[in-house]
Amino acid sequence: MTLRLEGRVAVVTGAGAGLGRAHALLLAKQGAKVVVNDLGSTMDGKGENMAAADRVVDEIRDAGGEAVANYDSVATKEGGEAIVAAALHAFGRIDVLVNNAGILRDKSFAKTNLDDFRAVFDVHYWGGVFCTRAAWNPMLEQGYGRVIFTTSVAGTSGNFGQANYGSAKEGLLGLMRTLAIEGAKKNVLVNAVSPGARSRMTENLGIPEDYLAMLDPAHVSPAVAYLASEACADTGVIVTAAAGGFGRLHYFESQGVQFDPHGPASVEQVADAWGRITAFEGMKPSEFGASGRTQDRLATLKRPAG
Ligand code: NAD
Repeated sequence: MTLRLEGRVAVVTGAGAGLGRAHALLLAKQGAKVVVNDLGSTMDGKGENMAAADRVVDEIRDAGGEAVANYDSVATKEGGEAIVAAALHAFGRIDVLVNNAGILRDKSFAKTNLDDFRAVFDVHYWGGVFCTRAAWNPMLEQGYGRVIFTTSVAGTSGNFGQANYGSAKEGLLGLMRTLAIEGAKKNVLVNAVSPGARSRMTENLGIPEDYLAMLDPAHVSPAVAYLASEACADTGVIVTAAAGGFGRLHYFESQGVQFDPHGPASVEQVADAWGRITAFEGMKPSEFGASGRTQDRLATLKRPAG
């Protein structure tokens, strides 16, 4: 099981700058043929500039790698299909899809403009759906695929002013979990990276310069290149990656409380037990995975007494 990517074809969306560029450069260095997708928009998703993708293709070729540019938007069904078609046309297959393209339209929810909300979903959430849907059947048919979504702490923890972005990023995790189940038998593995990196998205957040200096996007890409490789056997995992630090993020259900299952508990019972319902202390591993506590309790009920 190799970490190298010779013979593999990778598509990286939004690869004309920031994290996508770093991922594309590393995947090419690992031996993959790369489709560098980017329509070259501003950070809020306006305008187009083909030079962004072209520059990264030049960088990859100058380093001896193989790459082609694609300028379609991830935010439409036709765009997603055209991006995957670019890989099939140029290189005859698609093995790796890194869903990375993104925009920001930050506003508190009280002030948000719903068109902005939808635009953020169009790129992050629907972009992930459209590109992955186009790549999915070719991956299932060839019995190999690696799909990587890009989520954010704004989704997994919430962040003021990012209701649109955070919910789109969290939506991708719901998509990831089911695709991980549906793809597993065909060796199509689906994971997510939650990055922290210096880019135009993070440059004006008041992060100190010495800290920004450690947040090179290239420090995130090794996680993506690993998830893109044959050597990776995990699916449905969220990997955090920033400044050389890597971790796994997962949701847990607490041990919880079991009332009589034959009738509804009273509101008072729930209120009285609230501390135990919500406490994480004393947890044992669930037979059904870390978030399978409800299934654990149901399984206990089905077992004969004693
Ligand atoms: P970036 O703005 O430098 O890169 C995003 C790229 O996506 C741009 O080059 C842009 O032109 C492209 N893009 C935008 N809309 C597109 C569309 N419709 N079709 C194709 N390409 C499009 O920002 P970045 O920080 O490199 O962000 C990359 C991804 O990582 C995004 O999904 C972002 O939400 C996510 N992310 C970044 C951070 C961070 O710390 N930088 C943290 C969490 C998540």
